[in-house]
Amino acid sequence: MLRFDDHLAIAVSGGKDSLSLLHILAKMKRFRPKTQLTAVTVDEGIDGYRNEALEIAAANCKELEIPHHIVSFKELYGFTLDEIVSRARGRGETELTACAYCGVLRRKAINAGARQVHANKVATAHTLDDEVQTVLMNIFHGDIMRLAKEKPVTSEVHPLLVQKIKPFCEIPEKESALYAYVKNIKFQDTPCPYASEALRNDIRGMINLMESKHAGTKFTVFKAIERLRPALEQTAAKEKFRTCTECGEPSALDVCKCCEMLRHVR
Ligand code: SF4
Ligand code: ZN
Repeated sequence: MLRFDDHLAIAVSGGKDSLSLLHILAKMKRFRPKTQLTAVTVDEGIDGYRNEALEIAAANCKELEIPHHIVSFKELYGFTLDEIVSRARGRGETELTACAYCGVLRRKAINAGARQVHANKVATAHTLDDEVQTVLMNIFHGDIMRLAKEKPVTSEVHPLLVQKIKPFCEIPEKESALYAYVKNIKFQDTPCPYASEALRNDIRGMINLMESKHAGTKFTVFKAIERLRPALEQTAAKEKFRTCTECGEPSALDVCKCCEMLRHVR
């Protein structure tokens, strides 16, 4: 995943996983003088939640002497997540949860942030638990081709898409949390006010139940998809990337999912 001369944009939310990753990469950098690190935090604009996370992320960056870059939904899209959700609800659109908007818009924001700081890779703190949850969510949504795209090291498919790596993809969430506690890392533990809406929560509960009854379930699902992915990639390779006619960013369709969502709230 890592080269000695990488400039990594580390996606830091202020939660335990991303801060454990930040601390581990900062430690690693001591032995790799040519590696450059920049923390990137997305400010979605979630009242009563994100400000605290921004402060915690900034304090950790200061302690580790890592530059901290913030990308906000308001600047990028003209709306905070709170505004997007209330506009959508005000128009009677209840099909998409706050997390559905947030996930799509944040992915694009992280990529934009990584480009702004001229990083050649983005490191995210997705743990084994996140990866397995995502696999099941994609299956439940019937979005099988996403299994090919969302992998621990993304393929270089478009010059505007910064390569993504997930150094914690085989690390259970419990271990990443344990690292944060053992190292006394200050992180945000207040949950996002929209979190309870997420389908992900139900899936998390289901997988944790399976893991407690059948130890090793998470690794088994992760490894099964790793084996299946090459076959899916052959099919996915036929889907060519285009350029979104509205924002100029890479897209699988004429208009990217992000612009499509924003059309509904403008
Ligand atoms: Fe965004 Fe949902 Fe996560 Fe909140 S819980 S930060 S709305 S994805
Ligand atoms: Zn677009």
